[in-house]
Amino acid sequence: MSELEAKDKPSNFIRDAALEDLKSGRYKGIVTRFPPEPNGYLHIGHAKAICLDFGLALEFGGRCHLRFDDTNPAKETTEYVEAIKADVRWLGFDWGPHLYHASDYFDKLYEWAEALIKNGLAYVDDLTPDQVVEYRGTLTVPGRESPYRNRAVGENLDLFRRMRAGEFPDGSKTLRAKIDMAAGNLNLRDPVMYRIRKTAHHRTGDTWCIYPMYDWAHGQSDSIEGVTHSLCTLEYEDHRPLYDWYIQALGIYAPRQIEFARLNLSHTVMSKRKLLQLVEEGLVSGWDDPRMPTLAGLRRRGYTPGAIRDFCERIGIAKADNLVDIALLEHCLREDLNLRAERRMAVLRPLRLIIENYPEGRAEELDAVNNPEDPGAGTRKVPFGRILYIEQDDFRDPPPPKYFRLSPGVEVRLRYAYIVKCTGVERDAAGQVTTVRCEYDPASRGGDARGRKVKGTIHWVSAADAVDAEVRLYDHLFTAPKPDETEDWKTLVNPRSLEVLRGAKLEPSLAGAKAGDRFQFERQGYFCVDSRDSAPGRLVFDRAVGLRDTWAKIEAKT
Ligand code: ATP
Ligand code: MG
Repeated sequence: MSELEAKDKPSNFIRDAALEDLKSGRYKGIVTRFPPEPNGYLHIGHAKAICLDFGLALEFGGRCHLRFDDTNPAKETTEYVEAIKADVRWLGFDWGPHLYHASDYFDKLYEWAEALIKNGLAYVDDLTPDQVVEYRGTLTVPGRESPYRNRAVGENLDLFRRMRAGEFPDGSKTLRAKIDMAAGNLNLRDPVMYRIRKTAHHRTGDTWCIYPMYDWAHGQSDSIEGVTHSLCTLEYEDHRPLYDWYIQALGIYAPRQIEFARLNLSHTVMSKRKLLQLVEEGLVSGWDDPRMPTLAGLRRRGYTPGAIRDFCERIGIAKADNLVDIALLEHCLREDLNLRAERRMAVLRPLRLIIENYPEGRAEELDAVNNPEDPGAGTRKVPFGRILYIEQDDFRDPPPPKYFRLSPGVEVRLRYAYIVKCTGVERDAAGQVTTVRCEYDPASRGGDARGRKVKGTIHWVSAADAVDAEVRLYDHLFTAPKPDETEDWKTLVNPRSLEVLRGAKLEPSLAGAKAGDRFQFERQGYFCVDSRDSAPGRLVFDRAVGLRDTWAKIEAKT
């Protein structure tokens, strides 16, 4: 084990527990599983669990299973199953041959349920679902035993078989474990193991009309698969005694459940139920809306798997709940794209600029650096001409204090090109500037200021060569850091979370950009070609993240 301990990875209590269990011989290797319920798309919180489950197995040369927890047919679909597989692969993890479903074990679970009945440890109950809740009691009120609790083994077996055969309507009976209605832990007050649901299942079809509850399915699935460490979020801590009880009652191989704090991220919601509401009520365009915290949304937005894994590494694994600022996630993306994204010039809100002393009909190409962080990325040619587009924001008349961009009589450098001086403007009837007139200094080619002070450098695109594009700017999906704390959380959806700019002008090298390609638009941020709405002849870019790093500030404050 010493070589394992010697690895200089930062440890956490789960990794420590795994090390300890290997050392003590409790387990011979590490087997974990990621157990999504296919009732929605994966979100960034799931990414934390995936990185932990797969990461731990990888580190110890073990294996991690992908197991669909498909015990509730009413909410689960094959679309979700396929999306989840694609997302796990995209994140960079591989379950190899170890793809499983709780529904693979329905026969085995049924057999085990009969075994518990035969041992007097389970009974068929006729209480209605509401009565079951009522009889359970609360933390302060002890539970009451169901009048059906002491049925004979033979009667229980007969009724359970008839439940399975479809003789009883939905909700009319349940199978319950016979544990302790006075237990301090509510999960031990005779938990329901099976309920009747005459609903087709996306994998088993109409074979079953009784379905196992999560607690009854989960630990037994772990046991069947030889999982050593069953890692889950803190809300399952109170379920652990039940997890262990079932395993002991059956006398089967015992995995070890360990809980960790779930990821909470600011300015978003993370429960699948709420994400589904956003989709169904049209508050977003779908599960892959680039504002969503889903992996599909983040991918479409331009997130890289590396940035997400880096984020999961940095937030670490702890036992206490906390809220992670979304600025950290954005910071991780910025750091990753800074190294890999090529730079381009793009004018998002164009303003025409005419260089009066630039010969009409003349065209030239200037050299632009693709990525200052990566000399291997080389350079490209950018066409220049008499008429350009600049950003509306880069011109002001009159200029506010400390404004170093263009205004009448002032000089700026056009990135990679020349120094120009503003000589006048044209305005429309409403007084809006429609064109900026300039003169350029032919000797300043490449941006050489030749001894004078030119404070501002702005980007531009040659009008004759520009490529049109739609650019979508995103802001946080919610205006409040913790929308979950409000009953009316949907009223906190940020009305300015999406701004669509239809008239953007891009340098022509972007004409061939493909879905998913990512670039830094100089001075603007990182952008990704939208994979859903871009088509040949129609470029749509999503802003993945701006350039300004708010995380550095937050970190400095704390
Ligand atoms: P949700 O609350 O979003 O519906 P869930 O727990 O019901 O999530 P599952 O599909 O059951 O969703 O989750 C699969 C695994 O991912 C579980 O082990 C769960 O603990 C883990 N997980 C879910 N949400 C988070 C989160 N925010 N942070 C870390 N792990 C999470
Ligand atoms: Mg769940």
